[in-house]
Amino acid sequence: MRASLGEIETALVSLARSVAIDSGVSRIEELPPHADTDKAWSALESSGLLSLRNDGGSVLDLVLCAEQFAGALSASPFIGAVLGRELVGPTSERIVASLDGHIAPDALGAEKVTFVRAGHTHVTNSDSVILTADRSRVAMTTASSDVTSISAADEAEFFALTQLLLGADLVGNGIAAIQDAVSYACEREQFGAPIGGFQALQHLLADAWVDLVAARNALRSAAWKLGNETSDAHSASARASLVASEAGVRGCETATQVLGGIGHTWEQIASVRLRRALMSRALLPTPSDELLCARIGVTPSGIALEDGFDLRDDAVEASFRARLHTWLSTRPPTTDWHQRLAAAGFVGVSMPTEAGGFALPVTCEAIVSEELGDNGFPSPPAIAHLAHALAEFGTTEQRKVHLTSMLNGSIRWCQGFSEPGAGSDLASLRTRANIDGDDFVINGRKIWTSEAAQSEWILLLCRTDEHPHRGLSVLLLPLNSSGIEVSTIVTAWGSEEFAEVSFTDVRAPKSALLGVEGQGWEIAMSLLAVERGPADIGWISKFRRTASALLGDPLIGARPDVQHVAAWIEALDATVAVTLTDRRNGTFEPTSGSIDKLLMTKVDQLLHDVALQSDSQALFQETTETLERYLWARAASVFGGTSQIQKNIVAQRILGLPRI
Ligand SMILES: Cc1cc2nc3c(=O)[nH]c(=O)nc-3n(C[C@H](O)[C@H](O)[C@H](O)COP(=O)(O)OP(=O)(O)OC[C@H]3O[C@@H](n4cnc5c(N)ncnc54)[C@H](O)[C@@H]3O)c2cc1C
Repeated sequence: MRASLGEIETALVSLARSVAIDSGVSRIEELPPHADTDKAWSALESSGLLSLRNDGGSVLDLVLCAEQFAGALSASPFIGAVLGRELVGPTSERIVASLDGHIAPDALGAEKVTFVRAGHTHVTNSDSVILTADRSRVAMTTASSDVTSISAADEAEFFALTQLLLGADLVGNGIAAIQDAVSYACEREQFGAPIGGFQALQHLLADAWVDLVAARNALRSAAWKLGNETSDAHSASARASLVASEAGVRGCETATQVLGGIGHTWEQIASVRLRRALMSRALLPTPSDELLCARIGVTPSGIALEDGFDLRDDAVEASFRARLHTWLSTRPPTTDWHQRLAAAGFVGVSMPTEAGGFALPVTCEAIVSEELGDNGFPSPPAIAHLAHALAEFGTTEQRKVHLTSMLNGSIRWCQGFSEPGAGSDLASLRTRANIDGDDFVINGRKIWTSEAAQSEWILLLCRTDEHPHRGLSVLLLPLNSSGIEVSTIVTAWGSEEFAEVSFTDVRAPKSALLGVEGQGWEIAMSLLAVERGPADIGWISKFRRTASALLGDPLIGARPDVQHVAAWIEALDATVAVTLTDRRNGTFEPTSGSIDKLLMTKVDQLLHDVALQSDSQALFQETTETLERYLWARAASVFGGTSQIQKNIVAQRILGLPRI
């Protein structure tokens, strides 16, 4: 699986961007009708973008181009012309599509208009230019028409492509709106500081950004599916367009808020972007319940090609999946699940071979989670973040001893970071490890340590020096060391999975150090990036299972809130696929783990709130699984770093807003 653009796709994006910028608008004075009609069409025609589909281009290629045209606020009727060609085939005529048969919304300089009605494709001369709320594009009315028939399958294909292209317009436009707002927020000052440093604005922008990234990934994934005719292509397109319309309009609304008064004037381009987003949202064809209730996240069959975006398994992934299928078909018992999975070769499969792993691509870890979830087995053990830290920073000896026993499930580990006085501000932690002869001597307290009472070892972040970040180190300690006390804490949902761990004059040899002294912050951030991101993939199959049960109920499945959350699960799935690809390619940026975490939290909380509201018995017993899952989902915005901290990271480290 490769959810990243290949060389040809990347080159196409640059070409589309330059054509779009040429016909794009950055000031109100350049808006149509001042746009040069002939230039807009000539640029489209000579670029070859209009004949992309005929020349072997894919649906994904069209979506990538549409993002660029919207980003540049181009009046060139790219979407109108592409959809027109979808109906009439290759043509040198300046023909665009109308979605309702009366008005063609993206039609600058068009000579003809085509549309579908009652199983027939109509072609008509374009009539007169009309003004609409969308001032960045030109609409035209239609006159009388010539008619040819169109099959139901072609009509459905046209419908899905329309959703994807309008979705791409919403996303490209929304991303550009946020980028403009970020630039403004970095310069505009109030109270003696750039407004972009205020957390209220940072979090607004971060929220909008996360949604737009997810929508972009969902659209690209659905476009690939439509182009490759997968069984879920039409439902994926419908869901992606729902997410895109929400994210695209919200992005533009957020941008106008960040701009303050000027955002509400005619001289600011943000208001034009908002109008364009509203028009694209209004034009989106309404998907049927049948599409919105279909199964989420179907794995495409076949083997991936050499280059470019491809959601199918490659040869290595396919043979791994087949081996896992065979093993699962023996219906292994689920007692001692970690050990059974490990013995069969399905834990830590991307870890180095000397540590008991199989050095397979990280995507195979995702296959394990997906297959276990889809076939109703328990999730794999949640140790990817700890195993990753040991693999990356451990000595050969530590990897051999600790990683092997962690992976095979003979030794269980917990993560000791948070303290009573240091949660979000982790660098202020006070648990101290002082050197005494050949040992460290540790004193302090850790809190909220998950599974501490069930674990044998702890990966402990502690202070070996006064410097807030450079003074932190990581030690690997057995929990039965003299001076360690573990006291369980009952969670809000009644389990004893938390604990407080206290350390009184605990001695540990220097060989307990992971990495070098002072490297603790680096190790912690690297570990958290995995915990916030791909390690959570096992959750997606759980989300899918819960959502499928809701969608499968004829009454509940028809509810908009249920269909809405299913669309966001699909967007999360598409986003995690991008992260996994980046990890596999070695291009993963740890900060992007914060986007995954925020998205996962959003989906978790939306889903389990909907599930709670759909279960009439959930609150009328002392405790139910539905209520427990709802309460656990509320904790998702706290564990692994709170949502507010993730938004700070997205705002400052990804969007580049100032820290004040
Ligand atoms: C289910 C669960 C499992 C956990 N497991 C572990 C574990 O295994 N190991 C471990 O070490 N820890 C664990 N934790 C602890 C978790 O990492 C912390 O709770 C978390 O980092 C927040 O710290 P805190 O509780 O001290 O809250 P605080 O940091 O006090 O935060 C309180 C509120 O203030 C907000 N806030 C704080 N700083 C800022 C800021 N700069 N900007 C904006 N808002 C801010 C927070 O977002 C939050 O809403 C777990 C927590 C939970 C709920």
